[in-house]
Amino acid sequence: MAITRNVKCPNCGIFNKNRDYCKNCNTLISFEKRQEQKVIAYKKEELKKAKDDIANPNLAERLKKHSFWLYRIVGWVLYSAYLLVSAIGALIAWFIAMVAAG
Ligand SMILES: [Zn+2]
Repeated sequence: MAITRNVKCPNCGIFNKNRDYCKNCNTLISFEKRQEQKVIAYKKEELKKAKDDIANPNLAERLKKHSFWLYRIVGWVLYSAYLLVSAIGALIAWFIAMVAAG
């Protein structure tokens, strides 16, 4: 490593030179590693959400099949909004992945 980094441990306050983990209490102190873990956690969360959506048909899906026409319209409106939100979410996820990779 070219640059010497002196990172103060947020847990115990000890300064660590060029370490990802605190030499005293083993807390993760590397900024890059923390960011990496955040991205991984975020991706896991997105995956979990996608799985939940497949497992439990959402309110919009149920309303779309409702016998009363007004409920079906509400279902389609919700469905459209849901699609839009999903598209934006996917875009944000893609953007974060690009930033993390670059
Ligand atoms: Zn520490």
